[in-house]
Amino acid sequence: MTSFSDFGLADTLNRALTDAGYETPTPIQTQAIPDLLKGRDLLGIAQTGTGKTAAFALPILQRLAPGRPAQPRRVRALILSPTRELATQIAESFKLYARYMNHMSVAVVFGGVGHRPQEDRLKRGVDILVATPGRLMDHMAAGMVSLESTEIFVLDEADQMLDMGFVQPVRRIVKTLPKARQSLFFSATMPKEIGQLAGEMLFNPVTVSVAPTGTTVERVEQRVIHVETAAKRRLLLDVIVAEKPERALIFTRTKHGADRVVRQLGQDGVEAAAIHGNKSQAQREKALASFKAGSTPILVATDIAARGIDVTGVSHVINYDLPNIPESYVHRIGRTARAGASGIAISFCAEDERPFLKDIEKITRQKIPAEDRRGTIALSEKTDSSERGERPSGKRPQPRGRRPVAAAPASAEQQRRDAMPAAKARQPGAAKPSHAAHGKPGQAKAPQRPAHRDTGASEETLGRVGFLAGRDGMKRKSATDDRGSRNGR
Ligand code: AMP
Repeated sequence: MTSFSDFGLADTLNRALTDAGYETPTPIQTQAIPDLLKGRDLLGIAQTGTGKTAAFALPILQRLAPGRPAQPRRVRALILSPTRELATQIAESFKLYARYMNHMSVAVVFGGVGHRPQEDRLKRGVDILVATPGRLMDHMAAGMVSLESTEIFVLDEADQMLDMGFVQPVRRIVKTLPKARQSLFFSATMPKEIGQLAGEMLFNPVTVSVAPTGTTVERVEQRVIHVETAAKRRLLLDVIVAEKPERALIFTRTKHGADRVVRQLGQDGVEAAAIHGNKSQAQREKALASFKAGSTPILVATDIAARGIDVTGVSHVINYDLPNIPESYVHRIGRTARAGASGIAISFCAEDERPFLKDIEKITRQKIPAEDRRGTIALSEKTDSSERGERPSGKRPQPRGRRPVAAAPASAEQQRRDAMPAAKARQPGAAKPSHAAHGKPGQAKAPQRPAHRDTGASEETLGRVGFLAGRDGMKRKSATDDRGSRNGR
């Protein structure tokens, strides 16, 4: 199956795919669409970036097309998403694919915005509803919507649902669905609880395992810089000045960390925006829009907020903090390898993050080229309290050895002048700057690993996703403090 026309999709869908520039189905589309069109349940081990949205959206649209439009307060297909961003993107994809279909209604509901417009929309009935769990439960409790006649149910990013404390709400929602339905379940990883949830929800499912992990990791040029925690601020500025990123996504472990980095960059003359769970919906949308447009080319994000963000043209991912869950590293650097592009990922590693680096190198089966900048960069005058409070949970700060510092290579003012116009002025398509500034000469890319014959995923990826290697019960609790404020209400 190498072409969309082989699926036997409606002309309306094929036309929309041509408009969208889709020529060849991705592996998950090739493997999932035929069975989904037959009405089979599906367990998809895949993450955002694999084309999974179209893999479920196209068969859903095809199967719903001949039926009658949704009755008032009823939903024909429900897609549950852990975050507002992902929910919005999924709804946009459905609208794109359904653009030539008559009477196919798509709506999205999530927390953080008023209930009223969503209630008005739900009252009219929705063919395809994309929702976050908390807000959907509010609407169900208020009698605005019922799932009693829902035909197709999709649970997306199930492992993220678990991380965000949504598993019980999901179970309650699933209980209200009819027993006779088609169910689809997607997760990037398969910890034990998620496997259990899938078992409860699915009937004789087809299993498709496609994670771009290995291939993504291979496409991204990666570097680690060993550095003192207190030198990270200055190092970040150095990196921005040297790399002149077209579009950089900077990751911190916590929301406070993200705000602090934005604040410090601002003080250093570099404009940046933050995106995390404490921001209002409007603030998040604004930050994301200006990042997409390239007007604020530096976005600082936490793992959860960045999940599902689909922005092409991210030239650099900078891990200001290393994630304590190694899979998050793969998700993070995958932001810079969208749609077949390659990119650069630079990770700052402080002494107390060394164990995280070890875990990352273990799951990605590579040694990331490293550079030791300890003792060479000006340490911040003081480590503020929020920084002290953000150490990886359960880890004591290690005593820092070489505190004294060499003089900075350029004045802050010089760096400010260098950084801003460069970051802002670079146009897409302009010649890329040299990326060698911080790398050691002769640094090689991670070695290529053999891809799995059927899925295109590396063997390591398939082993990692749990089913094959039985790797479960990973350290799922993230030090990220996004949980709680992101309950979707
Ligand atoms: P997803 O994994 O669903 O978030 O999709 C990732 C990105 O790939 C989105 O921007 C999609 O529009 C795009 N995409 C999905 N399927 C295809 C395809 N067959 N050809 C080209 N682009 C695609």
